Amino acid sequence: MNIIVRCITPIIIFFFSISFLSCATMFNGSQSGVQKLYIMDCGHITANDLSIFSSEGFYKGESKQLVDACYLIQHANGTLLWDSGLSDSLDGKGPVEAGGGAFTLEVKKTLASQLAEIEVSPEDVDFISFSHMHFDHTGNANDFAGATWLTSQAEYDTAWGPREVAEKLFFAPDSYSALKDSETITYEGDYDVFGDGSVKILAAPGHTPGSQVLLVKLKETGPVILGGDLYHFTENRTNKRVPAFNYDIDQSRLAIERIEGIVAKKDALFIIQHDKEQHAELKHAPEFHK
Ligand SMILES: [Zn+2]
Repeated sequence: MNIIVRCITPIIIFFFSISFLSCATMFNGSQSGVQKLYIMDCGHITANDLSIFSSEGFYKGESKQLVDACYLIQHANGTLLWDSGLSDSLDGKGPVEAGGGAFTLEVKKTLASQLAEIEVSPEDVDFISFSHMHFDHTGNANDFAGATWLTSQAEYDTAWGPREVAEKLFFAPDSYSALKDSETITYEGDYDVFGDGSVKILAAPGHTPGSQVLLVKLKETGPVILGGDLYHFTENRTNKRVPAFNYDIDQSRLAIERIEGIVAKKDALFIIQHDKEQHAELKHAPEFHK
């Protein structure tokens, strides 16, 4: 055998085996798709007059404790933060009244400290998206202005529309003002974040003009839907009750029908982001779901 061929053949075999191995690794999924879903405590909310959560007059004279959660999704090709909770600036201030006494808010643990605990800095977050732009979901948005903001066109238009209209819809423009200069992707309908179907934003308008929920396909847990404010607590999901303060009640009912159809078809775990009891049963950062 020619000396050059004798030298080159083992090299070719070596590289062939390496590429075969990396293909095999990709094939078994460890280098693709969603790696981890972290659930973080982003505040506590007491609804002092629960009747605002029913357009049909239920819950008169009742109050209820809710949670506010944020979610970090680590995918092989990037990191997405879904919702940013109440503002970390409320930390250490104790219970604070908001909405003319409708709500009492409290932050006991900052989002920043929970990210630091899992060794994620705001600069590591590639994408940020909000189920909707209510103040209890955009509290720390300005800390992630370096990320690419994924938003429905309708929510984007409301966020940057007339300030008094946005505020009337419970948006807090100062909490997300830094996103004005962020790289932004807007869309109508659904949006596939990583292009492989593993993390999909699903349109669910009604609570606000461009509300959305997030489908996350986890390898062990299976499909999970982070439900935004499609419902705020289990009783509303069971009875299909729509809050009186929703932007569009009829549209909300259509969104519920559509998303419940997807939940049933995929046999997905539906997470009610504000539900205190369900939240308590799930793993929290630094633990994660995979
Ligand atoms: Zn909310």
